Amino acid sequence: MQDLSAPDENRALGQAILTIDLGALADNWRQLAERAVDAECAAVVKANGYGLGVEPVARALSAAGCETFFVAHLSEGEILRKLAPEVRIFVLNGLAPGASKIYARAGLIPVLGSLPELAQWSDFCRRDGAPHPAAIHIDTGMNRLGLSAADLPRARALMAGFTPVLAMSHFVSAEDTSAPRNRRQIERFHEACNQLPPLPASLCNSSGMFLEEAPFLDLTRPGYALYGGNPTPGSDNPMRRVVGLTAVVLQVREIPGGETAGYNGRWTAPSRRKLATINIGYADGFLRSGSEGEIGVDVFAGGTFCPVVGRISMDLSIIDISEAASLSRGDRVEILGPNIGVDDLAAQAGTIGYEILTNLGRRYHREYVGEATPAATAGAAGTL
Ligand SMILES: *Cc1c(COP(=O)(O)O)cnc(C)c1O
Repeated sequence: MQDLSAPDENRALGQAILTIDLGALADNWRQLAERAVDAECAAVVKANGYGLGVEPVARALSAAGCETFFVAHLSEGEILRKLAPEVRIFVLNGLAPGASKIYARAGLIPVLGSLPELAQWSDFCRRDGAPHPAAIHIDTGMNRLGLSAADLPRARALMAGFTPVLAMSHFVSAEDTSAPRNRRQIERFHEACNQLPPLPASLCNSSGMFLEEAPFLDLTRPGYALYGGNPTPGSDNPMRRVVGLTAVVLQVREIPGGETAGYNGRWTAPSRRKLATINIGYADGFLRSGSEGEIGVDVFAGGTFCPVVGRISMDLSIIDISEAASLSRGDRVEILGPNIGVDDLAAQAGTIGYEILTNLGRRYHREYVGEATPAATAGAAGTL
């Protein structure tokens, strides 16, 4: 196994560097776990740990004491299972036709969200001679996955054929604390649970954990906040920053007013300008939508915020460094870091931080720093 804490010799080779602070990640998990002391705190590590790398992420969370993980796809569950033979793994997207045996043999718990899925799991368990565990997903307003209220009597009957271990639902807009919808979903979830056999229950994603109603129940399922995203948009981010990203200046040039920069000449220099070309583009997850406006997203360079000008291209972007202290070839600029959070970049690019994280490029040099201090109970969680 690669020693992730070793200093890297490639650092100087002019690549963009993505830094992932595993200590901050573990701290974020602990903070959330303490927020809901009476509930178990799981971790959502779907989409390769929100783009940060499921292996180091799951290892750090496990060392911090996390024992239950959620992924979205069966393939993600299989990868995580190999890394962590002992932890509990739920697969949110449910059960694909014909896939029951794969789940059971890998010890993956499907989150069943429709009557056909419940019937399939129940049939499989009968044929397999073992009442394997499953979670029940109840729809309380998303209308995406999950059983509707009318499905519950039939669901109850089918649940006799396996071992239900969790009832869960998912908030539509938990990040909007004032939305009356949140309370309505909590009520609907309780009503649904009352029609099922008693089960551990789970409702909260990251933002749900910051609702006034505190609907922590038995298990919480944060994802975004673990990775440093702000679960309370509009207020200060209570989480520690996990991600840093720097790109490298390839060239600096001065252009007279009236010249354009980048594809399609979409930006025209209003006066003499100093530009720097940096080695990051949309193929690296520096979203092209970040250059849709009159001027684009900010990069922090030479001690100040410098806007992207012209279209972000596949491998390159151009920034206006006229106001920055002198920058030259080989200098690093901050894309994400102390001055620009994931939520800041997302807001400027017209998206959400979740999309920024899960699009982080594969070409970055990745450095994992910081270490999760093992919790007193670590070790019980498996062999990560
Ligand atoms: C992704 C997801 C989560 C985690 O949500 P965050 O907002 O990232 O905390 C929890 N539950 C379900 C069903 C999800 O799909």
